[in-house]
Amino acid sequence: MNRKYFIASSIALSAIVKFGTWRAMANDIDEQDEEMPAIFIGHGSPMNAIEDNAFAKVWRKLGETLPKPKAVLCVSAHWETRGTFVTAMAKPKTIHDFGNFPKALYDVQYPAPGSEWLASHAQNAIQSTNVGLDESWGLDHGSWSFLRRMFPEADVPVVELSLDATKDAQYHYNLAKELKGLRKKGVLVIGSGNLIHNFKYLNFQAMSNTSMAHDWALEAHDDFKRLIQNDDHRSLIQYKKHSKAFQLSAPTPEHYLPMLYALALRSPKDNVSFFNDAIVGGSIDMTSFTLGKS
Ligand code: ZN
Repeated sequence: MNRKYFIASSIALSAIVKFGTWRAMANDIDEQDEEMPAIFIGHGSPMNAIEDNAFAKVWRKLGETLPKPKAVLCVSAHWETRGTFVTAMAKPKTIHDFGNFPKALYDVQYPAPGSEWLASHAQNAIQSTNVGLDESWGLDHGSWSFLRRMFPEADVPVVELSLDATKDAQYHYNLAKELKGLRKKGVLVIGSGNLIHNFKYLNFQAMSNTSMAHDWALEAHDDFKRLIQNDDHRSLIQYKKHSKAFQLSAPTPEHYLPMLYALALRSPKDNVSFFNDAIVGGSIDMTSFTLGKS
């Protein structure tokens, strides 16, 4: 089956709700002694949302072992905007932002509630730019594909933070740093994309084959992991200068940038734990990591 993605990389004309509407409404939550982990998830094919495969099993296990968050803030590769927005509706809709997939995938609904508190808190935490409260987006497959495995009861509120498509990697890294305080408030921040995401070299018929990675992809995979492990943020921000392999890994930036949102939240005491460490179809890297105590 030819499962070409037709991913909506929409420059969403998101509804801008007046800034600060909720600022006065936000009830603060006491800071916790323990920070929540920060996570980067390689989400890969939308089919991972419904296939009972190895990646889904790890996502399920992740949800079982993590401390239960008060809410999730997800930075998805699939929500690109001009400017920065957070979803602010009480009931975000499930967005099926792809084409040519089985009906079963379009039937999936993930009815996690939104969080006025988190939308407002994220808006207030980011001081470097105005953050719009969005009422038009919802949850795209860059969040619900794995959240339905992690939290199958859909009982953890979810807010998405958009990627400003007009900005560079350094900007995104700096903006992500402003979210650091959320980890102490019980918020699980998840960047969702793929370290390597190159459709030109992808074998769409081999999305479960983990043994056919291109040489450049293997090189990039090892280098990404080493730089993440070594906390070499500068090289990861300036990835385009690093190597030809990195350039091939991210021919467009939207699947790479969410990784920087997790990386920027790293605390000195955090350990890095990699999971789903595999390249599928030759040029999609599922490698993911948790930053936290273990
Ligand atoms: Zn994607």
